[in-house]
Amino acid sequence: MTNTFALIGATIGLGSTAVSDSAVLISDDTIVGICTEDKIPSDFTPLQLNGGTLIAGFVDLQVNGGGGLLFNNDPTVETIKTITQAHARLGTCRTLVTLISADKSTTSKAIQAATQASRQNIPGFLGLHLEGPHLSIEKKGAHSERVLRKMNDEDLQELCDAKKALPYLMITVAPEMVSPEQIACLAEAEIIVSLGHSNASSDQSNQAFQAGAACTTHLFNAMSALNHREPGLPGATLFNDNIYAGIIADGVHVSPAALSLAVRSKKGPGKLFLVTDAMATAGTSEQQFQLDGRTISRSNGRLVLPDGTLAGADIDMLGAMRCLIEDVGVLPEVAARMASSYPSACIGAIENLGSVATGFFANVVHIDDDMQLQQVWLDGKSQL
Ligand SMILES: [Zn+2]
Repeated sequence: MTNTFALIGATIGLGSTAVSDSAVLISDDTIVGICTEDKIPSDFTPLQLNGGTLIAGFVDLQVNGGGGLLFNNDPTVETIKTITQAHARLGTCRTLVTLISADKSTTSKAIQAATQASRQNIPGFLGLHLEGPHLSIEKKGAHSERVLRKMNDEDLQELCDAKKALPYLMITVAPEMVSPEQIACLAEAEIIVSLGHSNASSDQSNQAFQAGAACTTHLFNAMSALNHREPGLPGATLFNDNIYAGIIADGVHVSPAALSLAVRSKKGPGKLFLVTDAMATAGTSEQQFQLDGRTISRSNGRLVLPDGTLAGADIDMLGAMRCLIEDVGVLPEVAARMASSYPSACIGAIENLGSVATGFFANVVHIDDDMQLQQVWLDGKSQL
């Protein structure tokens, strides 16, 4: 039976994009129209909302865990299901499930699990993000040094083969560990190459971008600094208009001033988008979890290793949007795009993902006037 309904009673979109007195028409997993409330076709069941705003379901390109599980600790379809469900309940309707640098067998298992998840159409699963293991030891952050290494021909082949079975595959690499030729091969195979965990100079970064890298991972964190004589990877990212960048807006990873500079610099076509870098704790009240035998603890809005190194972030997409709006002064409609249409554009999925518009997936988040989550529809199905 077709699931056909009309969301009414809420404003559609934030700030300058806001439209009132209109309905979002949903049929199964698709938004099939937006019309004034008096024009709702008779076969659509009205679903009355009590004010608030409808925005596009979030798209998160860096999700290591959620619902109590970390993908690294058990890379299976069941784990993917738990993680995507936990994030759906926080408004994220598409996730790139992310593997932190791991040994070869864990990486192969993660690729197999992601391939199965894609075949099984696990709701909310968008694809795989391999964050490493070809990362700089100097900028390892919470990654285990023992698994970090240069990319070889076998790695390259495995990645290109993996992409054939996956809708989206992103890989974070450091230009120090991957040659421009390898980056070109990955890009040619339609793998989204993102630079991160790197001490690369601005010149090295530019060379990697010219070879086909299209994005930068959690801008500013775990990378060379932006110095006025040597602007490093952040400078190269902000300078190159075509390059996208993920950023963690939790008030901890990046200062409001640096967030603001980055937002103002990335005018496009490459844009700045939000990632949560969420860990097992997302969507739970759990206080600790394990990564490679090390305990990561949650305290005061941070996730940290015993030595204080940040290990992922303790924030959800809506919290990151509020941080941008309240602490950085970003316009609400821009913050919403940074959580939905910009990450969709980064991976080339802009035709049907990341907007509340006709023909798009029915991924819709209902928030109240205080920007608190009220309801989520993922592919037209309510999640709360
Ligand atoms: Zn990282």
